[in-house]
Amino acid sequence: MDNKLMLMIPGPTPVPEAALLALAKHPIGHRTAEFSNMMAEVTENLKWLHQTESDVLMLNVSGTGAVEAGIINFLSPGDRIVVGSNGKFGERWVEVGQAFGLNVETVTAEWGQPLDPAKFAEKLQADTNKEIKAVIITHSETSTGVINDLVAINSHVKAHGEALIIVDAVTSLGAYNVTVDALGLDIVASGSQKGYMIPPGLGFVSVSPKAWEAYKTAKLPKYYLDLGKYRKSTAKNTTPFTPPVNLIVALHTTLGMMKKEGLKSIFARHERQKNATRAAMKALNLPLFAADECASPAITAVSVPGMEADKIRSLMKKRFDIALAGGQDHLSNKIFRIGHLGFVSDRDILTCIASLEVVLSELGYENFTPGAAIGAAAKVFG
Ligand SMILES: *Cc1c(COP(=O)(O)O)cnc(C)c1O
Repeated sequence: MDNKLMLMIPGPTPVPEAALLALAKHPIGHRTAEFSNMMAEVTENLKWLHQTESDVLMLNVSGTGAVEAGIINFLSPGDRIVVGSNGKFGERWVEVGQAFGLNVETVTAEWGQPLDPAKFAEKLQADTNKEIKAVIITHSETSTGVINDLVAINSHVKAHGEALIIVDAVTSLGAYNVTVDALGLDIVASGSQKGYMIPPGLGFVSVSPKAWEAYKTAKLPKYYLDLGKYRKSTAKNTTPFTPPVNLIVALHTTLGMMKKEGLKSIFARHERQKNATRAAMKALNLPLFAADECASPAITAVSVPGMEADKIRSLMKKRFDIALAGGQDHLSNKIFRIGHLGFVSDRDILTCIASLEVVLSELGYENFTPGAAIGAAAKVFG
């Protein structure tokens, strides 16, 4: 049977029907009162989602562009920065820093392990001349399913006093409690195809008052991603350049859905689905790639010793039209990843797990009792 694709990958994530219908409409002009009224509501709701009174700006980029904007607007060539790297995305921010001529130092951990906050403390405390201008953290490391201890790392950045904290929250915002103002997070970047429940194409950057101070003296070149332009336009409920208007109409719809569900319920849903997925993988005797203490609410990465992860994924797709994500780089074919981010219901998790049981059996994997995984997940939901 065709046309019943179920996306269980950590982006793009499933899109609710109301948003799909919004996308199907004729575009409207972006210099109209109709658009400005919608922009005003979208901006308000973005601040609500970020739990901030400061600015949340919207760019026509994917998540990477949002993080890049969050870096280049606040730093100057040669600035010393510290980047946490324990997966594919952490590595990317090291590369972006280097591409822009920043003096990049790293704090690393093995893929699958969380970053050690003490290592940040060490570097920051040793920097008595206050040369470190920014610390960049990937909150939920999508490549491994690890969530880093943002609260602890941020506390060390705050103790330093000078450095900005720049957070890739692409798979934590909208899934996990990211309290931008309460924690004093300076820049928080995210993308539309993750927790926002709409297709790819929009990036979001929140900017603290302290970051706007740094903006005044930052010398890295920028034009299209100059956040000052977006700030000015957003204050007038408009955009500096032509925005993807249909995506914004869809976003208006999904932010409304999120407000209705409420932040607490949204975070509880992701936590519950994470727990159900992990309980199921344990019942299947498949090793979880991240430990319980640092498991991302949005992605579960699963090791498959003695099996080929890509065979499992291709049979899941062929038999049940369920898309799972694979491993990246050295983890290719070694792990698969289940995304439970955004518009995912408990039913989707049960469907995915039951299908996985069938697929594993068909592939000759016998190290589990049929029904055990679905039973374990049902217990979490029950
Ligand atoms: C998806 C993702 C991004 C952004 O990737 P794009 O392909 O540029 O949208 C950045 N960081 C993390 C942790 C992600 O999961």
